[in-house]
Amino acid sequence: MVTRSEFDLLFRQICGKYGFDLELSEDMLEKFFIISENLLGENEKFNLTAIRTLDGVILKHICDSACVANHIPAFPEGSKLLDVGSGAGFPALPLAVMRPDLSITALDATEKKVRFIEQTAKLAKIDNITCVSGRAEELAVPKSDMREAFDFVIARSVAELRMLNELCLPFLKVGGKFYAMKASRALHEAADSRNGRMTLGAVEKLDIVRLYTDEFGEDRLLMIATKKLQTSGKYPRRFANIKKSPL
Ligand code: SAH
Repeated sequence: MVTRSEFDLLFRQICGKYGFDLELSEDMLEKFFIISENLLGENEKFNLTAIRTLDGVILKHICDSACVANHIPAFPEGSKLLDVGSGAGFPALPLAVMRPDLSITALDATEKKVRFIEQTAKLAKIDNITCVSGRAEELAVPKSDMREAFDFVIARSVAELRMLNELCLPFLKVGGKFYAMKASRALHEAADSRNGRMTLGAVEKLDIVRLYTDEFGEDRLLMIATKKLQTSGKYPRRFANIKKSPL
């Protein structure tokens, strides 16, 4: 790993190159340094992510997640955000750093990844994050205390949007927002998922925001759905059904 000042320099270079306008305090940079160090160190043991260079971690994990922070409203105060399929903690960990006002839950089906997020949060002194291990479709059922309990739900690289809607929208309160982080090649998913989105209680219209352009010239997008009605107790279905016949 590099020193803290080398890290800061590299971080600022990457922000300049890709046009990230992140307002970062010393404390935030220190937290990003610890997250990066821990991810690269533990990855050799646990195979947590395919990204194995510091440049890659800064761009594709830290900045890609952190730049979403500005698009999440500041109200209601003390809002709860759920990251579905958080993996090694993305976007949950950088969002928790950028938005100490949010109470963040990171959910993943793989226990070792959830333990990693917990350990990283502790090391970096990020105290607005809680970790849950389990499957989204099992934790979002009507009797669960996680159902319709979150103001915001977010997911990156978990599934195509038709499936993701069913895994994520049941967790959302009426009036809440669901953020799908996607690359522009997935733009067709916005239209393909229209019927399912409405079946699950979200409004028809999807807001699409361009975040930045990646190193291959592809745009990174945020697809934002607002929930207007409670989700029917029929959803989510079992994972095999969600996959076999997406809504
Ligand atoms: N969001 C992270 C990880 C993406 S990999 C990132 O962008 O880096 C997809 C993750 O979703 C995996 O860690 C996998 O365990 C998790 N996952 C897939 N299906 C899930 C489900 N139904 N419930 C909970 N987690 C799930």
